[in-house]
Amino acid sequence: MKSALTCVFSAILLGVGCTTSKPESFSTALNWVTKSREYQAVCLQTYANAWEKVAAAAKKQKGPWAIVMDLDETVLDNSGYQRRLEESGEAYSQESWEKWVIEEKSTLVPGAKEFIAKVRKLPRARIIFISNRYARNTGHSRANLEKLGLSANNDIYLLRKEKADTKTIRQKEVLQGNGRMKKHGALKVLAWFGDAAHDVPADSNLKWGTHKFMLPNPVYGNW
Ligand SMILES: [Mg+2]
Repeated sequence: MKSALTCVFSAILLGVGCTTSKPESFSTALNWVTKSREYQAVCLQTYANAWEKVAAAAKKQKGPWAIVMDLDETVLDNSGYQRRLEESGEAYSQESWEKWVIEEKSTLVPGAKEFIAKVRKLPRARIIFISNRYARNTGHSRANLEKLGLSANNDIYLLRKEKADTKTIRQKEVLQGNGRMKKHGALKVLAWFGDAAHDVPADSNLKWGTHKFMLPNPVYGNW
């Protein structure tokens, strides 16, 4: 606001032009994610707890198992995209979002990299990424993870084929070993990770902090 007013006064008094493309400050939600120690702490706390639970559960597994993770705001930090929106004053659009995805500039959610690295060392571990990024951008998403040191050859990416391809459909494919998961067979899922309620199956047997883990995202969501 201050910059806009200053600009108007400058324009009237000095006859100079106005450029008000950059806001003086970002939204509270974005500042919390990018600047607060509290956001870092909650993410680290979630992944530390998840590691204890997954390591203990993995010891009891005889057959193949996996963990299922969402990508955006769970593993990948897209505050750069949000900053871009707030600076330009634009609302979210599929077009600008895909442009961001193709640029492969997402960074890391605190704790995700260390957690994933430890899980990979457990016997028969498999990591499945279920994301609403479109499947046509799987290569870019994989490349972004690779740049961050998060990628492995046997990871499974179940990205969205079309709008009707909900996460619930893909979660069932993992549990039943059909559809895109036919070649892998059904996998026992030890833990689910996300920043939105739909990232985990609606199953009352799954307990928060034991089988399912939520990362904080105050910036966007369907609440
Ligand atoms: Mg997400």
